[in-house]
Amino acid sequence: MHRDLLTVVIAAFNEAQALPALHPRIAAVLDELAVEVDGRVLYVDDGSSDGTWDVLLGIANGDARVSLLRLSRNFGKEAALTAGLDRVEEGAAMILDADGQDPPELIPRFVEKWREGHDDVHGTRSGREGESWLKKATAHAFYRVMQRLSKTPIPTDTGDFRLLSPRALAALRQLRERHRFMKGLFGWVGFRQVSIPYQREARLAGNSKFSFWRLWNFALEGITSFSTAPLRLATYLGVLTALLAFVYAVWIVFKALLWGDAVAGYPSMMAVILFLGGVQLVALGMIGEYLGRLYEESKQRPLYLVDSWRPALRVCSDGV
Ligand code: UDP
Ligand code: MG
Repeated sequence: MHRDLLTVVIAAFNEAQALPALHPRIAAVLDELAVEVDGRVLYVDDGSSDGTWDVLLGIANGDARVSLLRLSRNFGKEAALTAGLDRVEEGAAMILDADGQDPPELIPRFVEKWREGHDDVHGTRSGREGESWLKKATAHAFYRVMQRLSKTPIPTDTGDFRLLSPRALAALRQLRERHRFMKGLFGWVGFRQVSIPYQREARLAGNSKFSFWRLWNFALEGITSFSTAPLRLATYLGVLTALLAFVYAVWIVFKALLWGDAVAGYPSMMAVILFLGGVQLVALGMIGEYLGRLYEESKQRPLYLVDSWRPALRVCSDGV
């Protein structure tokens, strides 16, 4: 019987504690699915420094379905995922976090939707456990702002927990931009999308790798990669201040004609200069953000470098 191929792709950065607890859960789910789906697992070690690689080697030695990829340093989750997805040559891919926050037990539901003909099955968080209210609130706001700003549809409260069909995967592989805001890239690809609501669990072990500063930069990345609205905002801000300045100029001239022009007005002059200076700096900063990204893009560097690649021991498993 023909079975579809599914590779579970997991980016791991310093997850030595969480992985030993996670892998048996994935293995159990794949065993359960084995009748319909030929399941594989691909772990990408994103330059970990805590023995994650040794843990992964142990896992791969004990499970012939597991292949491993190690990057030359920490490139960030988005690049690590790209590296993993690039190695999925056949079949569909299922993206999962290494910390157990995306429960592997839901994979059969994703597979079911895929088999119904969907290309991008994504998990939408209906609740998040073990995360502070501040993180939840900022994440909530971020998704709403993104949706308003971007022309690309980006589903709200949806992370990287998703299944991509072979054709969605092939499409994604064509997008080689350096500043990779994966959520946006998935949305850009389109095809048949469907969401599965799920409860996001607390981490199995360790701490989140995304500090608030990193999340803030991530948000900037998303906005500048998928929207030019800030540039337009700069234009509007400029027009608005020019209008205000014009009205004010008319008022000054009018006042001078009516009541004469005694040299005064240091406070108002200072206020105007400082205000204009501020507006100009903000606008320049916005242009700078885009220019910087353009510069990065123009260098055409590879998205990641591979240190080692260990293919799965089991190559063809049909009929095993
Ligand atoms: N991750 C990665 N490279 C990084 C940071 C994180 O591969 O530079 C992985 C991490 O190991 C985990 C996933 O990305 O599997 C999500 O990270 P984390 O749980 O820290 O983020 P959060 O769930 O708090 O948003
Ligand atoms: Mg996490």
